[in-house]
Amino acid sequence: MGPNTESADDLQALRDRYVPKGPFNATRYLAATAKGAVITDTEGRELIDFAGGIGVVNVGHCNPKVVAAIKDQAEKFIHTCFHIVMYEPYIRLAQKLCELAPGDFEKMALFANAGAEAVENAVKIARSHTKRPGVIAFEGGFHGRTLLTMTMTSKVKPYKFGFGPFAPEVYRMPYAYCYRCPMGLDKATCGAACADLLKDFFIGHAAAENVAALVVEPVLGEGGFVTPPTQYFTKLAAICKENGIVFVADEVQTGFGRTGKYFAMEHHGIEPDITSVAKSLGGGMPISGVVGRREIMDAPQVGGTGGTYGGNPLACRAALAVLEVFEEDKLLEKGRTLGEKIQKRFASWMAEYELIGEERGLGPMRALELVTDREKKTPATAQAKALVKFCVDRGLLLLSCGTHGNVIRTLMPLVITDEQLERGLSIMEEGLREISKGNF
Ligand code: PLP
Repeated sequence: MGPNTESADDLQALRDRYVPKGPFNATRYLAATAKGAVITDTEGRELIDFAGGIGVVNVGHCNPKVVAAIKDQAEKFIHTCFHIVMYEPYIRLAQKLCELAPGDFEKMALFANAGAEAVENAVKIARSHTKRPGVIAFEGGFHGRTLLTMTMTSKVKPYKFGFGPFAPEVYRMPYAYCYRCPMGLDKATCGAACADLLKDFFIGHAAAENVAALVVEPVLGEGGFVTPPTQYFTKLAAICKENGIVFVADEVQTGFGRTGKYFAMEHHGIEPDITSVAKSLGGGMPISGVVGRREIMDAPQVGGTGGTYGGNPLACRAALAVLEVFEEDKLLEKGRTLGEKIQKRFASWMAEYELIGEERGLGPMRALELVTDREKKTPATAQAKALVKFCVDRGLLLLSCGTHGNVIRTLMPLVITDEQLERGLSIMEEGLREISKGNF
């Protein structure tokens, strides 16, 4: 029996019977096909995709070049395990990633499957290089669901609750969430003072010489698309450098064009020692990577990193095709134009709807933070949930994020057409109007 041979109702009942609730479903739709920025469900409904499989399909669903590469590779060989018989797509992808990643220095790259694995590997590599245990992560950060990355993740429910004890030697610092400044300062005059807290941290929490890595997202993904100023990252990077701490940028969500550049750290002129990538690198295939300074990446002993499936040939071919699409179809430029259109629209809504406390983001990675009171900045969690439901019920796939679940984010494929974008934005605006009136 193949997929989708049962009615949608039957399949949903089977899902509830045989799949636990842990792997959540944001909607009850069942996919039949997907193309560009539209998923068609088994009932023939066209869903406009502002979620992109959580930021995975920047090149669009079933991008023809990606599909062709996967098909071609599947005819040749599907798996040998890179550690047993190596293959060109892995090596070429490593070369490409080293060329693309920020940093005017020699780099190396390795591949795994999920974003969490990439972050875990980054920490292992940093520990191996520095011979230190400590890891600094940030409030609002999300790095995955494995023991270490869950520990590094900041939001307790649902990601950590009931899953302790957690991994040792993970510390947390405030993030530059300027809309809700952790120090109560004004971003126009603060001089990114929250980055300087790291110096006190070395006195009160862990000595700098015991810290292997600082792992930071350039824009908080699950944490609410919080977008710190350049000075914050410049300061963090300088403190890491002074203290021999490996500066790791977790670009799992921000990478591969999501912010209008290949890597979000490029907006800040930062050259991280290590960058973790995943999501849109594979255009839908599960692949993640770690890229960074040659001498750091090469620290672990032979066999110390890797895995059975890491850098699977189909996934590497898909990733190479993704990079071709970016170049040939000028996707970075398209992404920047898309970001401007969304930003303009969100800014106009800001003037109209009190419910929006802040409109923010980097390029097409844009968000609206909803509040019930602009003065007090009270998180409008119920309203955000209602807005998502309003949109999902009308065929627009939309996600919330943020520690309080009150931020609406956009992760649509960068190839979305103007007409699809307009349809999606109109549904969002209708939802904002209704929910602002208290109709939810
Ligand atoms: N790091 C960041 C910044 C993420 O946004 C995510 C997932 O959303 C991860 C790591 C974990 O990736 P994965 O779900 O592929 O393990």
